[in-house]
Amino acid sequence: MEQWIAELREAGVGRILINEPLADYTTWKIGGPADVLIIPSSRDEITSAVRLLHKHGIPWTNLGRGSNMLVSDRGIRGVVIKPGEGLDYVRFDGTLVHAGASYSFIKLSVMAGKEGLTGLEFAGGIPGTVGGAVYMNAGAHGSDVSRIFSSAEIVLDTGELVRYGAEDMEFSYRHSVLHQRRGIVLEATFRLEEGERKEIAASMASYKERRLRTQPLQLPCAGSVFRNPPGDHAARLIQEAGLKGVRAGGAEVSEQHANFIVNTGQATAEDVLTLIARIQGTVRDRFGIDLVPEVLVVGER
Ligand code: FAD
Repeated sequence: MEQWIAELREAGVGRILINEPLADYTTWKIGGPADVLIIPSSRDEITSAVRLLHKHGIPWTNLGRGSNMLVSDRGIRGVVIKPGEGLDYVRFDGTLVHAGASYSFIKLSVMAGKEGLTGLEFAGGIPGTVGGAVYMNAGAHGSDVSRIFSSAEIVLDTGELVRYGAEDMEFSYRHSVLHQRRGIVLEATFRLEEGERKEIAASMASYKERRLRTQPLQLPCAGSVFRNPPGDHAARLIQEAGLKGVRAGGAEVSEQHANFIVNTGQATAEDVLTLIARIQGTVRDRFGIDLVPEVLVVGER
């Protein structure tokens, strides 16, 4: 066994799985193996893992719920770190809410509503973790993480622990500073406002109804594949280019929502990438617009 893996085991950084297939760790149900998958169950275990990997110069990638990721068929070389159970918590403190990295963003939205706190209604249909939502500045229905973010505790790839406020996060459309400055969110704090439970529940129900009507949630997918270009919608462009229902292998442009690519059963990452390239080419030829993927493509190609 490699020396660094032995050191990780000795340091007790959580579960360590070797050559672990990642398809079941993503909502697209696609992806080859990680050389090493670490599932730490506390902030100390994550921090120790990151420090050891930094010391040995081993590359690592971070995974949340895998709901915005396309993992390549060959999988990910080096290490994948997926925060586990001990970071799956929420704590309310007045209008502040503290949530661990692996806590479900949907559950957070529901819990906040039950507490009579408003601000997180938009998150009721975003099936990722708190860590992934902060990284992506996830958003919907005219709001996003940046509107409610207060601070986050982060371990940088050097192993240094920092607390970033909103001013450090450089949030913009589906973007945060973490796209450039690598680190793992351990806990995020959001600032909400007191609201009417009934009103909160009513907007969440109407958002949910809209999603169930417009999104192909019965098939594995990763939400919107492309970012919306300024002033337009990727779904409109793809639909008007006549691409709904187009297939590559087991991947298909959803008939229900043109900006979703669904896995109809045995889709590979290559199938999805083929469709992405075809959509980009057709929309460029037809409208002169370059669609940029919102999903993150990771792993060896
Ligand atoms: P992952 O996909 O696992 O990772 C995404 C990125 O975040 C990666 O770069 C990863 O390294 C990083 N990351 C994950 N955890 C951490 C952490 N603890 N610290 C630092 N970085 C981390 N998104 C929207 O914004 N709005 C929507 O309305 C929406 N609807 C969706 C609907 C469906 C049906 C699906 C499947 C997806 C949808 N998404 C939507 C996409 C996705 O759910 C969000 O982008 C989500 O925030 C990703 O969270 P995750 O935990 O799955 O992250």
